[in-house]
Amino acid sequence: MNSFSEIAQSIKEYDKIIILRHTNPDPDALGSQRGLANAIKEAYPEKSVLLGGNNVEGLKWLSTMDEVSDDNFKDALVIVTDTANTERIDDDRYNNGKFLIKIDHHPNDDQYGDQLFVNTDASSSSEIIADLIAEVSDLKLTKNVAYYLYAGIVGDTGRFLYPATTQHTMNVAGEFLALGIDAKDINIKMNEITLAQAKLQGELFNRLKIDESGAAVAVIDQALIDKLNITREQANSVVSTPGRLHEVHAWLEAVEKDDGTFRMHLRSQGPIINELAKEHNGGGHPLASGADAKDLAEVEEMFQELIQIVNDYYKKGE
Ligand code: AMP
Repeated sequence: MNSFSEIAQSIKEYDKIIILRHTNPDPDALGSQRGLANAIKEAYPEKSVLLGGNNVEGLKWLSTMDEVSDDNFKDALVIVTDTANTERIDDDRYNNGKFLIKIDHHPNDDQYGDQLFVNTDASSSSEIIADLIAEVSDLKLTKNVAYYLYAGIVGDTGRFLYPATTQHTMNVAGEFLALGIDAKDINIKMNEITLAQAKLQGELFNRLKIDESGAAVAVIDQALIDKLNITREQANSVVSTPGRLHEVHAWLEAVEKDDGTFRMHLRSQGPIINELAKEHNGGGHPLASGADAKDLAEVEEMFQELIQIVNDYYKKGE
């Protein structure tokens, strides 16, 4: 683990900086990436700072990416935010720079990079970027930085709902508001769903299979995606919904991919589910993880494993 001042020193040393984040980015991935980029650009206007990765249609209002050529990587400092393992970095060339830094809040299973800073107690990677800026003198928290970090925190805390939300998270968000960011704009955009997504939520409740343990599973297959004419990102966006049900303690949402396999979203109110995700080619936080299932049989296998986890958790009285 490195200190914020060591990371700040590296940022100071490099003229070319490329900031990357994970594939299928969420607001925290994009917010931490752009918030950091803006802070560096404002502190060092002469540096070249590029944002790499694919654009996400539904989140273009928050951030769009730069064209990053192979040549841009030459002698560059590459910083990766919000990405636990190298396979999930949204640019295979992440190692083609001169120096690599990881900044993240997921469990540090893959300790990549020449320098790294990981804080699993932070609500989000955006909160860590705010902490970095607060501690090092060159970087400043401005409105143009805070806007993106706020979106990241709101996204990863489910609007300050999830247990990772701490007093510090609230203090940091309060500082953003004090700068006069347009929080209303972010909140409205992040709360908004399309009519098709609302219909999907209804379908999700209809399809949700709830075991008496409190484990639940719902499958969103290609036929439903086609019927509602939604993107896969929109399908992914309803994943937190079952958590509102009194009867549900931990749940799986299986979203069918083009190749017929399933992207698995795992969520929990208490039982730890990231070990289950790891067993199925995934990973993530103790209460929010992602994984893959090759077919419906593997989805069912994961559901049975989840039932076991939930039963064990409540039997132990945790
Ligand atoms: P998702 O269900 O895709 O929204 O992912 C939930 C959380 O788990 C997010 O914080 C992801 O970054 C993380 N996550 C998802 N898939 C993986 C993976 N394969 N490895 C590590 N972390 C993951």
